[in-house]
Amino acid sequence: MSEPPAGTEPPTGGSASPRVHRYEDGIVAIDTLTGGMTEVTAGYLLAAPRPALIECGPAKPIEHLLAGLDEVGMDPDDLAYLVLTHIHLDHAGGAGDVAAAFPNATVVVSEVGARHLHDPSRLNRSARQVYGELFDTIYGACTPIEAERIRGVADGDVLDLGGGRELELLYTPGHAKHHVGVHDHGTDAIFSGDSVGVKLPGMTHLRPATPPADFHLDAALASLARYRERSPERLYLAHYGPVDPPNEALAEAEDRLRLWASTAEAAYYEALAEVGTAPTGTEIDHVAETLRRRFADEIDADLVADDPDAVQRLELLSGVDSNAAGLVRYFQRRDEGTLTEVG
Ligand SMILES: [Zn+2]
Repeated sequence: MSEPPAGTEPPTGGSASPRVHRYEDGIVAIDTLTGGMTEVTAGYLLAAPRPALIECGPAKPIEHLLAGLDEVGMDPDDLAYLVLTHIHLDHAGGAGDVAAAFPNATVVVSEVGARHLHDPSRLNRSARQVYGELFDTIYGACTPIEAERIRGVADGDVLDLGGGRELELLYTPGHAKHHVGVHDHGTDAIFSGDSVGVKLPGMTHLRPATPPADFHLDAALASLARYRERSPERLYLAHYGPVDPPNEALAEAEDRLRLWASTAEAAYYEALAEVGTAPTGTEIDHVAETLRRRFADEIDADLVADDPDAVQRLELLSGVDSNAAGLVRYFQRRDEGTLTEVG
C-alpha cells in the first residue's frame, strides 16, 4: 500500500448524497440506480489530472450517473477515460450517453469487444433476446460511439491518468471473453467488474456470475488466480462496493465458483442420463433447480430478512437461471469440443 498519488484529491462540490460514496485514495463510487434500486451497480470515478470512470451502468438510468458525476464536480470537459470491464449492458450500456456528455473521454474496452460499441446493433439484439421485457424497462439500448473515441486494449496495457496514477488493464476472461480487470497501481486497488462475482451489501456469501453466452470455467479460475498473485490491498466489485479483506474474498470466490460449477456439472450429467445423450434443453431447468436447492440456506437468508428487495436485485445481476444457463452452455461446448481457450 502506498500513499495516494499526488494531485488526486477527490473532486469537491455539491452535497453528500446517497448516490455518491467516497472511499479513500480518490475513489468515488457513484450508484447507477439500475432498475431504480440502490447498490446494484457502481461506477467508480478515480480522481487524477486525467480522471477515469470505471463502468457506467445501463443506458436507461444514465441520468442518475451523470447527476452523480455533476455532484462531485466533474465538468463536461473533465473526464478523460471511461473504462468498461466488459460490454454487458449492465456495465457498458450507457457508454454512448457518457461519451456524448463528456466529449473528451476515450472509451476503453477489451479489444475483443470494442467493435460492438461502435456498432451496438448486435449487442442490443442479443441483449433484447436475453433480457426480454427487462431490456426496455431496466437496461435501454446502447447508442453507437465513434470509432476514434474507442480504445481497444490488450492485457498489460496501461492508462496514465497523470499525477502518478496509472491503471493497468488485465485481460481476465471467464465471466465473458471480453472482460478486463483494472489494477490501480498507486493505491493497489483492483476493480474486478464481474470476474470475482457478486456480493451486494448484506450478503454473507459471494455469488459467482456465470452467464451465457461465453462463460468459461477454466478461464474464470485462471483470472481469479491472476488477481490473487497480485495480492491487492483493495478489491472493488461492480456489484457492489469494496470487499474486505481482498485476498480472502478472492479465495472465497474461487471456492464458490468451484462449488457452483461442480454442483451444476453433476446435475447436468444427471439430466442428460435421464434423456439419453443428446441435450434436450430441459437440462438448464434441472441444473437451476439443483443449484437453488443446494444453495437455498445461504442464498442469502440473512440478506432477505434485512431487505425484501434483495432477492430481486440479486436475481437481476446474477440469477440462478442465468448462471445455470451459462454453466450448461459451457459443459455442452466442452463436450462438443468447440470451446476455445477463453470463450
Ligand atoms: Zn454485471
